Amino acid sequence: MTTPLPLVIGNWKMNMLASQACDMARSLVDRLSEVEGVEVVIAPPFTSLYPVGQIIKGSRLRLAGQNFYFASKGAYTGEVSLEMLRDVGCDFALIGHSERRSLFGENDAAINKKVHRAIQMGITAVVCVGETLEQRKAGATLNIIETQLSKGLAGLSGERLSTLAIAYEPVWAIGTGVNATPEQVADIHKFIRKFLFESLGFSEKVGTRILYGGSVNPENSKQLLQEDEIDGALVGGASLDFESFCAIINSALEP
Ligand code: PEP
Repeated sequence: MTTPLPLVIGNWKMNMLASQACDMARSLVDRLSEVEGVEVVIAPPFTSLYPVGQIIKGSRLRLAGQNFYFASKGAYTGEVSLEMLRDVGCDFALIGHSERRSLFGENDAAINKKVHRAIQMGITAVVCVGETLEQRKAGATLNIIETQLSKGLAGLSGERLSTLAIAYEPVWAIGTGVNATPEQVADIHKFIRKFLFESLGFSEKVGTRILYGGSVNPENSKQLLQEDEIDGALVGGASLDFESFCAIINSALEP
């Protein structure tokens, strides 16, 4: 199997009106036309997915939904299905972001249903895991990650997982300006990789990418992305600024 490209995802959260999202997407398509060696994904709000999907068609930029519901259609007011995301051009979907977990009560059982649905649909599931500051201070980080992975990925088999990525996002690093160090991230990524391969029986061939997320910015991205254990980044705040996001993307390329 060839080594998958590093993956850099911009999570725009609940930011940007459709016109702003379209302007940003046009600029990224333009800038990325010459850039090879990194896979770049943007996750705009739902209201911008369709126009942005039209703009990026035929380019190297990929589109992600920030969330979805696991049913395909029906009486689920306020929800969006994966079919709908795919219809507007998404090939990626974030699952279990810490804001979904803490603000909207998303639990590991719901996350597991979403993961199965995404894999069934051939959409790359980016499953987010990570500990809070209290959990880290209590020495519970590995237990928390293991529980989130074992429950969130329950029932998956190693052979079907080319469309899976894990994002390690310590909650204490998200939006705080305090990033985990490359060494801290490497330790957790090694643990995640070992857990996927040894406990869940994933095959090495599958090439599941493990990303880091949490206050990634142009100042720290090179150090983080050049660490062997880190296969890419999930970027929140810094992905809203065109030059900052491009600088982070460049950091993922070989020196
Ligand atoms: C995120 O929301 O996934 C994230 C990592 O945010 P930030 O980069 O702003 O910390």
